[in-house]
Amino acid sequence: MVSNSWIEADADAFVKTWSPRCGADVALLAYATRLVGSEPDLAMHGGGNTSLKTTIRTLTGEERSALFVKASGAAMGTIDPSGFVCLDHLYLKKLRTVDSLTDEMMADEFRIHLLLPGDSLPSIETLMHAFVDRTAVVHTHPSAILALSNRDSGEETIARALGSDVGMVPYANAGLSLGRAVADLLDTQKGMRGIVVCHHGLITYGTSIKQAYDNTMEMVNRAEEYIRNNRRRLIHIDKDLSVETAQARYARLAPVLRGLLSPASGDPDSPHLAMSLVPLITPDVLGLLDSNPGRGIALSQPLTPDYLVRMKSHPLFVDNPNYDDGKILREQLARDIAAFSDRYEAYGKRYASRLPEFNAAGFDLLPRVVLLPGLGAVCAGRDIDMAMVVRDITNQAFTVKRAIYETGGTYHGLAEEHLFDMEFRGFQVAKMESDPARRLRGKIALVTGSAGAIGSGICEALLSEGCNVTVTDLPGESFDAYADALRARYANCILAAPLDVTDPASVAAAFQKTVEAFGGIDIVVANAGLAHVSSLADMNLDAFRKLERVNIEGTLLVTAEAGRLFRLQNTGGDIVLVSTKNVFSPGAQFGAYSATKAAAHQIGRIASLEFADMGVRVNMVAPDAVFSHGSTKSGLWKEVGPGRMKSRGLDEKGLEEYYRTRNLLKAKVTAQHVARAVLFFVTHQTPTTGATIPVDGGLPDATPR
Ligand code: ZN
Repeated sequence: MVSNSWIEADADAFVKTWSPRCGADVALLAYATRLVGSEPDLAMHGGGNTSLKTTIRTLTGEERSALFVKASGAAMGTIDPSGFVCLDHLYLKKLRTVDSLTDEMMADEFRIHLLLPGDSLPSIETLMHAFVDRTAVVHTHPSAILALSNRDSGEETIARALGSDVGMVPYANAGLSLGRAVADLLDTQKGMRGIVVCHHGLITYGTSIKQAYDNTMEMVNRAEEYIRNNRRRLIHIDKDLSVETAQARYARLAPVLRGLLSPASGDPDSPHLAMSLVPLITPDVLGLLDSNPGRGIALSQPLTPDYLVRMKSHPLFVDNPNYDDGKILREQLARDIAAFSDRYEAYGKRYASRLPEFNAAGFDLLPRVVLLPGLGAVCAGRDIDMAMVVRDITNQAFTVKRAIYETGGTYHGLAEEHLFDMEFRGFQVAKMESDPARRLRGKIALVTGSAGAIGSGICEALLSEGCNVTVTDLPGESFDAYADALRARYANCILAAPLDVTDPASVAAAFQKTVEAFGGIDIVVANAGLAHVSSLADMNLDAFRKLERVNIEGTLLVTAEAGRLFRLQNTGGDIVLVSTKNVFSPGAQFGAYSATKAAAHQIGRIASLEFADMGVRVNMVAPDAVFSHGSTKSGLWKEVGPGRMKSRGLDEKGLEEYYRTRNLLKAKVTAQHVARAVLFFVTHQTPTTGATIPVDGGLPDATPR
């Protein structure tokens, strides 16, 4: 249930903070927009926008009518006044009379008629805001309203639930058509407090943004009340079906499904586009998918066409999945996905002529939502945020459709051609274009020893390329603090898993957590390692064995677990071992380290032989000493730094200088350098496996041969 959360004192404080920069009315618009955006049942994932008509004064003292509209793509829940675009209202409202307007023309009109400079385009629904002749407009996509409008005889249900002072217009294309339909209705029927657009959402307005917001809340509350009063529980949850069972099934199935849902890239060096997977497993969803009417409800048309570019127009429903036999299930999924692709291709062909910009070759034919009775919904996206959008919209659709069914309604979906139009319209497709700077978008990496100097450098490099990263290290406060700091910067792309690489169960658990969070794994960086300084004659056997366990067994366990997962997923993969120059050029007093790292290095080379048939590359980077990354000191430093400083009579800087000047290039080796070598391998710049890149400034003794 949504509730009116306008608090006068908060609004005043917000206005006080922002009004010096933008004026009180625009500050208040931003405050109201935040309230709307913080309520998923009103406006999930950008599903809504707001506007205000006011005047601004030019440098020459002229008053101009201005329309402030939310910028396209600005997140409502955290918006501030800079998230609005200021347009020439006097001009924009004249567009109501033009015959037609392509998306490109509309975008150009917006760019030409800005009153304040800015790079953002305003919302696609800007013309509706311009044409509605009211000071403030709030537009949302409330679940409860869609549950009334998207049914046979939706108009009567809206009138019964919301009262006769609310109008309804049929679905219209966002842009000129929608703006015109809403404004025409408002012109002919004065005194209406709001307008419902079928298969889309609600529009309210007022003489102030507060009044428009209050109207939204009142109407949504009326809709919710109607549903409450008219609902009978018809879909029950099977007691035998537990969320835990479903989650366990998902954990086993996710890598397989991820492999099957990863589109071909057309690039022989990296043949698969990486997808992130997120499950939707709740008692309600399990109950729905398992119920008699559930299949029909789940497969019915989408609620609104807004998210089709991410979700596609239909999900895949897998009938009677066999969870007891992994091989049979894989074959069944492959068959069902192939049949889905055929249907999807035919759908594209049916409507291709509607859109001149439609390019069938530019789209893959794989589903984004797979519905599995007994497991839930598996939602796929090109990155983790997109997969989460798909999950949340899928959940909203289930909730609304179920409410329609349980209030005695018959769901009424949009005509298929409207779905096609929104799925493939140029401006929608443009939203999906990837940023070429994020070369690892959607990929999933697990890095051992993440909290150390080299580990943290590698994690940051992977994250900055758009990779999802599971950071792992021994549990403890410093690991928690490290993970929290990264999460604050990279949000959903970060998973923290405590990991002891010497413990097989701990290794398996970290991989499993990664699969549950992201759907699978593409890149494993085996970086955790220990150093110990001692001559062979004085070697403490326990200390030696400790290094054996971390450096050799840890590498073996992580490499083996990666190999098993890559086999299931069947989309290739990368393993990068952080080796050392000591493998090629061992140092006196470094016997334990050099010998155990040499064994680990050899495991990497063997893995490159054994995993090549899966398209998995295994490579090594061999750095010279890296003592720190930012404020993080390396384990190596802690082990050897103080002793070396003492024996050579050097301070910290002096020791770094010693290492710098011993290489040919006189280069200080940093964690970023090591990270770049890792990126070289995992971005598949060359067809290389079983190879080593030295990152040491040039040490002739340590050149691999
Ligand atoms: Zn909308």
